[in-house]
Amino acid sequence: MQTETRLNEKNGAQGSTVGMRQQEGPGGLWDSMKKAAVIIGSGILFLAAFGNSLTWHLQRFWGASGDFWQNLWTKVYLAFEGHDTALFFLGTTLFPTLAFWGSNALLLLVDTTGKPSFITRYRIQEDKNNPVDPVKLRHAVKTVAFNHVFISGPMVVAVYYLMTWRGNPCGPELPTFHWGLMELAVFSIVEEILFYYSHRLFHHPSLYKHFHKQHHEWTAPIGLVSIYAHPLEHVLSNTLPVVIGPVLLGSHVTTTTMWYCMALISTTISHCGYHLPFLPSPEFHDFHHLRFNQCFGVFGVLDRLHGTDSKFRQTKQYERHTLLTGLTPLTQTIPDTPKKGQ
Ligand SMILES: [Zn+2]
Ligand SMILES: [Zn+2]
Repeated sequence: MQTETRLNEKNGAQGSTVGMRQQEGPGGLWDSMKKAAVIIGSGILFLAAFGNSLTWHLQRFWGASGDFWQNLWTKVYLAFEGHDTALFFLGTTLFPTLAFWGSNALLLLVDTTGKPSFITRYRIQEDKNNPVDPVKLRHAVKTVAFNHVFISGPMVVAVYYLMTWRGNPCGPELPTFHWGLMELAVFSIVEEILFYYSHRLFHHPSLYKHFHKQHHEWTAPIGLVSIYAHPLEHVLSNTLPVVIGPVLLGSHVTTTTMWYCMALISTTISHCGYHLPFLPSPEFHDFHHLRFNQCFGVFGVLDRLHGTDSKFRQTKQYERHTLLTGLTPLTQTIPDTPKKGQ
């Protein structure tokens, strides 16, 4: 197992560079990036053109509840009047911390006990972490707590100063429903671009062994492993892609907080190791941990563009990479092909 892991890691770092050369041809990375700019640009144009009619229907549901949220915010705003800094820190640290540790506490109960079976039956790598190795887990918890408190914490402080320079993140008025949706779309695009390229850079052989190998110690990840990383990787690849969007748009503290929570919950799901019903599929990033040199992005748009999902697309994991809308685990409906001799 150890040998297999080391072999994979070696291939992971080196294979990706070889892959880059083969897949990108004479135009290379620059050519692909130009294509990416065209695709993303068209996406933004599409959103601008059709966004209003798409969101109009959603806004009808929002309706009167919009006033409810504005009234609630006014109460909070008045309670903190003159203490914007405190309001910003409380919002952007308390809620994301609760979201991250709350969801991970639940997952850890399952990982450490191997129960209940109605959750463990959805395990992606069926023979792994059953239950999780306690020594490995303790080490991961310490690193994750360190990154959370000593890296994400100070970065939120830095972000606050950038945001106040950009505008007033704690204004009395909530952003409109349309603007909030537009912001979430832009944050996601910014995250996909920055995470994909920084992550792929960390797979370069000269950087991989120093910075990114740690995150890949877990070939079968669990939720908490999402921020189990070298401090430099945690700054450049995990935190910056998420915090830059709200700084660019000069966002309100409420949409910023909501986005931080969404980003932490989504990365927890991507790493959790269970393909649960009615939740986004974690197959894509789970495959990255299994094979190292495939699936570098968050949504997979840039992987498709650069061809870094070519092997993934030939696998059973790819066939299972959908929203599970029934209760039967996808490992049962789409079983692995039996190995020769079995
Ligand atoms: Zn990962
Ligand atoms: Zn990686």
